[in-house]
Amino acid sequence: MKKLIAANWKMYKCRHDATQTIADLAAGLGRSVPADREIAVFAPFTALAASAEALAAHMPGKAVFLGAQDVYPAVEGAFTGEISPSMLLDCSCRFVLTGHSERRHLLGESREFVGEKTAFALAAGLDVVLCIGETLTEREGGRLEAVLGAQLEAGLANLPRDLEPQRLVFAYEPVWAIGTGRVAGEKEILQAHALARELVKKILPASYAKMRILYGGSVKPDNAAKIIGLDNVDGLLVGGASLQAESFAHIALA
Ligand code: PEP
Repeated sequence: MKKLIAANWKMYKCRHDATQTIADLAAGLGRSVPADREIAVFAPFTALAASAEALAAHMPGKAVFLGAQDVYPAVEGAFTGEISPSMLLDCSCRFVLTGHSERRHLLGESREFVGEKTAFALAAGLDVVLCIGETLTEREGGRLEAVLGAQLEAGLANLPRDLEPQRLVFAYEPVWAIGTGRVAGEKEILQAHALARELVKKILPASYAKMRILYGGSVKPDNAAKIIGLDNVDGLLVGGASLQAESFAHIALA
């Protein structure tokens, strides 16, 4: 299974900056991606088309894919401000994020809505990175398993029956580690990833073993190699440290 290293640019970068970052990333990667890796860049909506052009120009045919940070679960319609799967596919996106903690906690997205988006996006042809993770209060209250279980149960409701395992990726992102500089410890990552795989097994017994589980939360160039080498860690989802091409290239090659 190829490791997936993903950059979440959040609400940063207009077109020019996005294009320049991709050109710099191509230079940082030496214009090639190791055979056991895939890379994804989750750009803001307004920079998707420019990022797709930059990827085609600087890394044609390389395993570097474009993703969007959100999607609405409808084909089209009166949904002001929203974006459909076909619009994202039209911008050359392969991936979309669902359930990012900033959307769950800052924008109030329910577990059920995350599940709707996940199923709809997959059925429409996008590959999905479904984010799960607990808050500090939930962890300290001994609720890790209950929280991940509930997020996965709702997040994986109504999936297309013939789903190929490589089309669905999980990202375990403890909320207390996102953007805080406080990376989860080795033991915490091992425990949560093993637990997540067990929980996915209950829902998708035929394909859970072939699905990737990424770790996200304050990944930096100096801790990436150690984290990506842990059992059950099939890649990384990187926020802050993905904004600079040099540091993201370092992480992608770790
Ligand atoms: C994220 O946005 O998914 C993330 C993990 O952010 P950071 O790397 O900045 O903690």
